[in-house]
Amino acid sequence: MRDLAALPKAHLHVHLESTVRADTLEELADRYGVEVAGQVGAFGDFGQFAAHNGAVRDCLRRAEDFSRIAYEFCAEEAAQGTRYAEVTFTAAAHGERLRDPDMPLEAVLAGLAAGQAAHGIECRVIVDHPRKRSVARFEESLRLAVAHPQVVAIGMAGAEGYPLAPFAAVFRAAREAGVGLVHHAGECCGASSVAEAVTVGLADRIGHGFRALEDPEVVRLLEDRAVPLEVCPSSNVVLGLVESVSSHPVTRLIEAGLVVTLSTDIPSATGTSLTGEYQLLRDELGFDDDTIAWIATNAVDASFAPQGTKDLLRQDIATWRAGS
Ligand SMILES: [Zn+2]
Repeated sequence: MRDLAALPKAHLHVHLESTVRADTLEELADRYGVEVAGQVGAFGDFGQFAAHNGAVRDCLRRAEDFSRIAYEFCAEEAAQGTRYAEVTFTAAAHGERLRDPDMPLEAVLAGLAAGQAAHGIECRVIVDHPRKRSVARFEESLRLAVAHPQVVAIGMAGAEGYPLAPFAAVFRAAREAGVGLVHHAGECCGASSVAEAVTVGLADRIGHGFRALEDPEVVRLLEDRAVPLEVCPSSNVVLGLVESVSSHPVTRLIEAGLVVTLSTDIPSATGTSLTGEYQLLRDELGFDDDTIAWIATNAVDASFAPQGTKDLLRQDIATWRAGS
């Protein structure tokens, strides 16, 4: 039985605000007098999770708070064999809330730099934007990305029913500036949200996307354009979108010919880890190590990592697979 912690992993869909260690959160909540409701792994619905998330955000105020959680993210990820991570951070929202547009992102980048040096992991950032928020704030997200080369992509999160068309000019500007586009879609809303993320949103990857299966034409669109999906089984189960890991459509996504990658999305809220997600594929869905190595390689291929990092990770995954 190969050790899944030793599998060299790329982690593509993980929200920094949902990686905060429980003791760190408690300490910050005490400091600022914030009440953090909601129990890990037991959110009744999306609304409860969103309320919990709001409280976490309220615990992040000083540059050192942001740097600390970014540093601790590196430590947690490295400890479970993640070699490369693209961590999602709602930089413009924090900047607006704290009336300091660049501080939150720059503090996160400083924390990641220290964490990478200490823990031998490589990290980049994706700046996300809740769809309900203004086009101006999304433009600000693009400005932040262009100003900081460690930011590899921007993208849409939040209510998938909100149309992407108002943001179309920003998507085109990002494309021209060489900034990647990664959108949440097909998680809460149906296959048409996935099609919209590809055609209007110019998505390089889709966060979740499993509801694409509801429409064969959308599956074909993803297949034709080879758009990878970031599949996050535990998140889907904890947020009540899928009944159980054993009934998760990940197997059907693979059978449909789609490029599947694996991520945690909100690990501090689900109690899972990236190694834990791979373990679930093995234990609950019976995936063999060939399929597991294929998924791990897909994540490397689908990442915005430098070519040298990708080559090395692919080799190391093959070595893991060749071992016993
Ligand atoms: Zn997400």
